[in-house]
Amino acid sequence: MSTNQIPYKIYLEESEMPRAWYNVRADMTNKPAPLLNPQTLKPVTEEALSHIFCRELARQELNDSDPYIPIPQPVWDFYRMYRPSPLVRAYCLEDRLGTPAHIYYKFEGNNTSGSHKLNSAIAQAYYAKEQGLRGVTTETGAGQWGTALSMACAYLELDCQVYMVKVSYEQKPFRREVMRTYGAKVTPSPSDTTQVGREILARFPGTGGSLGCAISEAVEAAGRQEGYRYVLGSVLNQVLLHQSVIGLETKAALDKYNITPDIIIGCAGGGSNLGGLISPFIGQKLRGELDCQIIAVEPASCPSLTRGSYVYDYCDTGRVCPLMKMYTLGSGFIPSANHAGGLRYHGMSSVVSQLYHDGLLEARSVEQTAVFQAATEFARVEGILPAPESSHAIRVAIDEALRCKETGQEKTIVFGLTGTGYFDMYAYQRFNDGHMTDAIPTDAEIAASLAQTPRVPE
Ligand SMILES: *Cc1c(COP(=O)(O)O)cnc(C)c1O
Repeated sequence: MSTNQIPYKIYLEESEMPRAWYNVRADMTNKPAPLLNPQTLKPVTEEALSHIFCRELARQELNDSDPYIPIPQPVWDFYRMYRPSPLVRAYCLEDRLGTPAHIYYKFEGNNTSGSHKLNSAIAQAYYAKEQGLRGVTTETGAGQWGTALSMACAYLELDCQVYMVKVSYEQKPFRREVMRTYGAKVTPSPSDTTQVGREILARFPGTGGSLGCAISEAVEAAGRQEGYRYVLGSVLNQVLLHQSVIGLETKAALDKYNITPDIIIGCAGGGSNLGGLISPFIGQKLRGELDCQIIAVEPASCPSLTRGSYVYDYCDTGRVCPLMKMYTLGSGFIPSANHAGGLRYHGMSSVVSQLYHDGLLEARSVEQTAVFQAATEFARVEGILPAPESSHAIRVAIDEALRCKETGQEKTIVFGLTGTGYFDMYAYQRFNDGHMTDAIPTDAEIAASLAQTPRVPE
């Protein structure tokens, strides 16, 4: 074991936890493109958004000007139950790899939901409660967001209705039971409880569902019930804002020991953990205070940044949500059933998309067998069983550390370890049995899906 002065875990004191979220949009030179009303193609107003989201969240969604937004005291008090999360120096992984690189990871899996999603769930539930609403509806894919929201709603005594992608509902019965234990009502999607669900079932009988489809059902369900709003666990500006707590804590921990990152790595599904982790560092880059490489990692089977187009697209299959300009594979894109590693959304946060477009971060796609290889290597030396999603970041962190070994460079690598993988054992089983394969969409498949994006004049 190394005798370096940096402790194995850098913890912040409670008093050092951030009191405000950081809104990177305020400091961006090129702001993300506005959300558009799908009928009029005009930017959506706060008033219009307030019919879908809680009022304060609609405001946050459109706020491009305030760099800091105070964390309400009740949300901060909830954060105190499981934050600050540790920034861990991966000494054991460094030793095993024989790399001169210094590797750190910010671990967000230390709560029952097993991921960073609780950071935004509690904020969204709080604003719903504060507005006097009765409940919220949402979708969940792998189940982490549904679990996080169930926990937050249970704490604040709000009703919680979750549309869970049917394949996950069937493959992850224990995820479902965790949500029900926290009082949520869980419906497999597509379902016959909504108009859009019935239409999709009629068109594709026997479908296992998709995130885009579950979003449409949840939005419709919220609209139909008095005192309900829809909430979403990724992609949106407001979610990125709440997740900035990850980056703020990471920066505070690094600053404590005068550590400057050379490479920051995060996995990217809808872009919320990555966006939250990098926000304060992007702010520094924009102000010319930091020169560091930032890498978004996505699955080769759902490569929105590396192979998608930067255009306006539908956010959901039922096309009920506002249009968003983002890197997208087309709202009809569904990754191969073979793909086990999460990060399946067809598009990407408009903030992350714009930053990528402006060259402030780079993107890499990785194949799932290589991801599970890295996950296993990490688990065996660092102890934590990582979520497949998080393991995309581990893969690239290991690749970069091995490159440092070749070149003899002592770089500082920081990556986001977003969660734990206890509910992903079917995927691990397939990997352990040697049955996992890589499914990469063809150019023709992506082009066909992209042909369905809406035509929006520049
Ligand atoms: C949801 C999730 C992700 C991906 O979502 P982002 O919005 O891209 O952060 C990554 N890791 C874990 C553990 C998740 O639950």
